[in-house]
Amino acid sequence: MAESKKFKVGICGGGIGGLVCALAISQHSDIDVDIFESAKSFTEVGAGIGLWPRSWDILKKLGLEDALQQAAQQQLSDLEGNSSLNRSYKIPTSSVPTFNYRKSDQASGIDITTIYAKSGGLLSFYRPDFQNVLLQHLPSTCNLHVSKRIRSYFILESGRIELAFEDETTAIVDVLVGADGIKSAVRRTLLTQEAQNFRQRGSISRATEVQSSVDAIWSGIVAYRTVIPSDLLGKHYPNHPVLTQPTHYLGRNTHVISYPVAQGRLVNFAAFHARYDLDDTTFEGSWNSTVPKQELTDLFRGWEPSVRALVECASDPLKWAIHTVKPLNSYVSSTGAVALLGDAAHGMEPFQGVGAGNGIEDAYVLAAVLGHPKTRKENLNQMLSVYDEIRRPFATDIAYRSREAGKAFALHIENQEFDASKLQDLQQLMETVRERWEYCWNTTLNIDIDIDLKLAP
Ligand SMILES: Cc1cc2nc3c(=O)[nH]c(=O)nc-3n(C[C@H](O)[C@H](O)[C@H](O)COP(=O)(O)OP(=O)(O)OC[C@H]3O[C@@H](n4cnc5c(N)ncnc54)[C@H](O)[C@@H]3O)c2cc1C
Repeated sequence: MAESKKFKVGICGGGIGGLVCALAISQHSDIDVDIFESAKSFTEVGAGIGLWPRSWDILKKLGLEDALQQAAQQQLSDLEGNSSLNRSYKIPTSSVPTFNYRKSDQASGIDITTIYAKSGGLLSFYRPDFQNVLLQHLPSTCNLHVSKRIRSYFILESGRIELAFEDETTAIVDVLVGADGIKSAVRRTLLTQEAQNFRQRGSISRATEVQSSVDAIWSGIVAYRTVIPSDLLGKHYPNHPVLTQPTHYLGRNTHVISYPVAQGRLVNFAAFHARYDLDDTTFEGSWNSTVPKQELTDLFRGWEPSVRALVECASDPLKWAIHTVKPLNSYVSSTGAVALLGDAAHGMEPFQGVGAGNGIEDAYVLAAVLGHPKTRKENLNQMLSVYDEIRRPFATDIAYRSREAGKAFALHIENQEFDASKLQDLQQLMETVRERWEYCWNTTLNIDIDIDLKLAP
């Protein structure tokens, strides 16, 4: 590490959260950053991702706006075989119809409502393209290591942290960021060590509670994800609504969301099937796997034609068992400087489309804390608690809101008076969904103010 650097950060996991964290920290030239990714290369699932204005605002601050817009424009040129095509993609700044909602588990569906969102609404990307932009913007000073799967870590007497990888190699850093996703090995080590500390102090119940959050839990929900070529869908069902307008088709315990990505070249398809009675049970089998198309077709038997057309075009669906992380008591270690971020900290149900968005917020806040003039190698542990104080209450609340949104989309309503056959009841339900969601487009992250307030004497 060069003399001028104040400390070295090791980020385990090169998903969206880890990459944005590296980008944000790299803006502070006095911090060294290394990313350790377990896979052989940086890859993202071939599906869409939606980001709300709150997250987009951060990406703009990181200087990614033009590149993300350019990536979308590039695809349009490629698609039309015309590199001189001069059509620029501009994200609208006004209030836009974000999702149409329909009740669709019947032969003839009904329109429920449209949710409008300010500041451009939901911005949709093809995940691999989004990840490419992040990778391209990492400065050469950020060291990327692939095939480095962290197994555990140790806090050394000096306070520095030794990372132990599955390939028996090690690395030493001052700050460890666990951005290693829902099955996080960093979370496992952190919570196991915290539980041990409680046990040594005789707090057996606290130890048991902490230990119970190590493993992610199954929500009882599975998702079926793929992308559909737009021209295929257009041939199958001319002028299908999702070719231009994101639409969410609702039914009892099953729903499907679909929207155009890659400047309209593809349509993202994500269907969900919920068994809330199986919440917090063990999911048998692989958490993600390809499944026979028939499994999907069977779920949508009897649904309205526009949904069945989507299902018919959805080839090779990947089935994901949706797991979540129990709300943690802390995102940071009590000794040393270890912080969890993204799904490793708060893997949540995906029904507000904010899992990655919250990872982006974590990354930005963490970088702001680490880059703060008051942060030094000697007070890292104390400063990380500021990150925890800002992010944990917010993300815990959002995880709850996402879960409630999922129940609404699955028409799984405990109120006995709710009647899914009444348009008025459905509209009232969606109004509640909107109210709990509007922070995504009505608020921004005022992080510099928050950090200064927390650090005020
Ligand atoms: C169906 C579905 C739809 C979704 N839609 C949206 C959406 O529209 N908008 C949104 O904001 N969010 C959405 N999400 C949530 C979003 O996908 C996740 O929250 C986000 O991808 C998590 O990013 P991450 O970087 O924290 O973790 P991950 O993406 O899981 O990345 C973790 C990285 O760490 C690596 N890794 C794993 N273990 C180790 C290890 N031991 N050592 C080193 N590296 C390791 C992995 O290879 C991976 O690269 C959706 C989720 C689902 C399931």
